[in-house]
Amino acid sequence: MSQVSATPATTVEIPSIPLAEIAPWALFVGLLAVLALFFVSAEQGAFSLLSGTAVHEWVHDGRHLLGFPCH
Ligand SMILES: [Zn+2]
Repeated sequence: MSQVSATPATTVEIPSIPLAEIAPWALFVGLLAVLALFFVSAEQGAFSLLSGTAVHEWVHDGRHLLGFPCH
């Protein structure tokens, strides 16, 4: 025989974050994401801002994983 106990309902209040407060962080994270995507996808491939092959070797597996042309 099971016994069902009624628990009182609890209310959870979800905090709201104003758009003006989160927009600078969203822009910052977006710029970091675009910069990371540039280095993984095009740096020392289609473009070469830095000499040598250090960046290419560092992001090489990520480039293949994401399907960008490499070699
Ligand atoms: Zn490769």
